[in-house]
Order: sequence, then structure tokens, then C-alpha cells
Amino acid sequence: MAKLKMEFKCEKCGKPQPKNEKESNGNWNVYDCNQVCKCGGKFVMYVNGKKAG
Ligand SMILES: [Zn+2]
Repeated sequence: MAKLKMEFKCEKCGKPQPKNEKESNGNWNVYDCNQVCKCGGKFVMYVNGKKAG
């Protein structure tokens, strides 16, 4: 099975979304789904560098 690399990035400027430091731990990164980038863009999920959904 191919490995999926998932990440959350701003769809406007491509900046990675900062994870939720309170909820994240060494095994699991938590991202707030309603968070908005400083540039005003939405954070969207990218799989292997491609926008998903
Ligand atoms: Zn942005």
C-alpha cells in the first residue's frame, strides 16, 4: 500500500497550518478545523502534495 502523506496547508499562501499544541502529542497532531490563516485563506488538507476534497 502506498504511503499517504497528509498535511494541512493554507489554500492561498501554502503556509502549513500550526497544530493545536494543547491537543497534540508525540503520536498524533491535532488541527483545529475552523482555523483560518493570517492571510485570510482557509486551511485545507493535502494528500501527497495534492489538495484533497
Ligand atoms: Zn495563508
